[in-house]
Amino acid sequence: MEISNYIQIKNKLPLDVNLLAVSKGFSSQEIRIINNEGQKDFGESRFQEANQKQLLLKDFKNIKWHFIGRVQSNKIRKIVQNFEYIHSVDSFEKLLKISQVSIEENKNPLIMLQVKLCDDPSKGGFNPKVLIEKWDQIQQFKSIKIKGLMTINPKGLSSKENIKLFKECRKLADSLKLHDCSMGMSGDWEEAVEAGSTWLRLGSIIFGNRSY
Ligand SMILES: *Cc1c(COP(=O)(O)O)cnc(C)c1O
Repeated sequence: MEISNYIQIKNKLPLDVNLLAVSKGFSSQEIRIINNEGQKDFGESRFQEANQKQLLLKDFKNIKWHFIGRVQSNKIRKIVQNFEYIHSVDSFEKLLKISQVSIEENKNPLIMLQVKLCDDPSKGGFNPKVLIEKWDQIQQFKSIKIKGLMTINPKGLSSKENIKLFKECRKLADSLKLHDCSMGMSGDWEEAVEAGSTWLRLGSIIFGNRSY
């Protein structure tokens, strides 16, 4: 755990850039330590793993849980019940289902739509064109609040290439009048800040290396 990294990054960030501490692969005890430094937002990508920590930390009422992993259709109800934010909604069908389940569960999750800005077979996401075509329909969905877009850049890009893709995400969000861009991870967060990120998702730079 690198508390000093956490504090250093936190102090460098402009006020309008939020830091999501990605705690996947780390224990509830480590979440507690960062929470004690004032960190409230935690991101997890696997439901089972996350839910075990949520149960252990249920008395920590100030923690906000963000789901950032691939959303499996059969886990949507549990995700809606247990997470305030979902950053990784990667298709129209899943968004519709999240809306329907949210109505039934009387929940109002905050949503980022994951967009795919370049070919990367390992990543899902909305094609920007399809997103624009469906935008009117998407805005009618009830019981969800779409806050912004999310993107994951492929590994191994130059700093310039990272900035270019992040700026595309920012531009698309602006054109849809969305405030948030969830972009930037441990290896590319400085570029993301430069391009207008409002949510950095930082794991290993804060918690150390994971086993996965
Ligand atoms: C794991 C993960 C992160 C954090 O990755 P680091 O490189 O450890 O900062 C961010 N976003 C998503 C979607 C992830 O799955």
